[in-house]
Amino acid sequence: MAAIEMKNIVKQYGDGFPAVNDVSIDVADGEFLILVGPSGCGKSTLLRMIVGLEDITSGDMVIGGKKVNDLAPRDRNLAMVFQNYALYPHLSVYENIAFPLRLAGASDSEVDQKVREASKTLELDEHLERKPGNLSGGQRQRVAMGRAIVRDAEAFLFDEPLSNLDAKLRGQMRTEISRLQKKLGITTVYVTHDQTEAMTLGDRVAVLKRGVLQQLATPRELYENPCNLFVAGFIGSPPMNFLPATVKGDSVELPFGTVKIPAEKAERAQGKGLLIAGIRPDHFEDASVVDNPADEATFDTTVDVVEWLGNEAYAYIPFEAPPEVTKQLQQLERDLDGESLRTQLVVSLDGASQIKEGDQAKIWVDARKIHLFDPATGENLT
Ligand code: ATP
Repeated sequence: MAAIEMKNIVKQYGDGFPAVNDVSIDVADGEFLILVGPSGCGKSTLLRMIVGLEDITSGDMVIGGKKVNDLAPRDRNLAMVFQNYALYPHLSVYENIAFPLRLAGASDSEVDQKVREASKTLELDEHLERKPGNLSGGQRQRVAMGRAIVRDAEAFLFDEPLSNLDAKLRGQMRTEISRLQKKLGITTVYVTHDQTEAMTLGDRVAVLKRGVLQQLATPRELYENPCNLFVAGFIGSPPMNFLPATVKGDSVELPFGTVKIPAEKAERAQGKGLLIAGIRPDHFEDASVVDNPADEATFDTTVDVVEWLGNEAYAYIPFEAPPEVTKQLQQLERDLDGESLRTQLVVSLDGASQIKEGDQAKIWVDARKIHLFDPATGENLT
């Protein structure tokens, strides 16, 4: 196992903006790192440069303390797990796992020992004689990982391994990959465009936009302290609400009313004119189900639509934004690859809330969780 250091990595294909632009990321030994971002952000290119399937235009790739820029893929000792798992359909599970060992000229006894050891770890020992066609998606994935394990690979690299699966299977496989990675403790880099996968799997997550690293942080840090509008809009489901906002004194004026915010937040956003407030749906609540909601953190509004899901309900509240804010949000929508940003506030209410469509309602907002973004740069000021 080994640490992977990406140092100022650039990939330029022809003219135009670089596919990967000066990205530096250190993946610790045993860490599970996710590369995430919308289509075309450069995540697959970066992964391919780690494996050696793509040349590096500039910068250094260091694996296990050794610079590998000029090493062929086979000499990097990394195990890539592809979307389709690349299993041999005519070979048994045993022979599929044994394949890299046979290729390397291992003796029959060494092959047998390693295959049995790996298949035990992966709970495949009862399926060794079966062919991949007779296995579930999860079992196939484990065979592909088994092949990587027997080679004693320095790291696992995954390129969107779950994107062809239906939602239920994807959920199961996600748990499985996470469990196995922890059990094996092997350095892993995993590419996905799915923020849920990124949040649930990664020790840390690198968010990329047009080849540029936006933020590298733990899932919690990304959720709680996104560095800019792009990360804020990309991480979280349903997405963060963005609203026009002006800070006056220690309060922020929002389309629905004025809310008092913590003094240090107000201070950082003072005198900056029109801003974009970011508030997650979860950080609102029906004021009637909150213990002692402070008056300065509630507002009265008319609720347009309510979707009740049992444990929670989503209430939709339309609002209008001035052109400066709309322009920035439209750009954000393009950056997020058409991920549609709502022109209405989405509020997540407790399932016990009695608010119905068309009601005049008192909504509470957790003022400590309000983010304020500079509309020109997108930077999170709070
Ligand atoms: P996706 O999720 O759609 O696979 P991605 O984030 O993995 O996207 P990359 O495949 O790394 O993105 O591509 C990054 C950029 O580099 C894109 O603009 C893409 O068009 C461009 N690109 C990728 N491969 C090549 C290539 N072989 N030649 C020229 N341009 C390329």
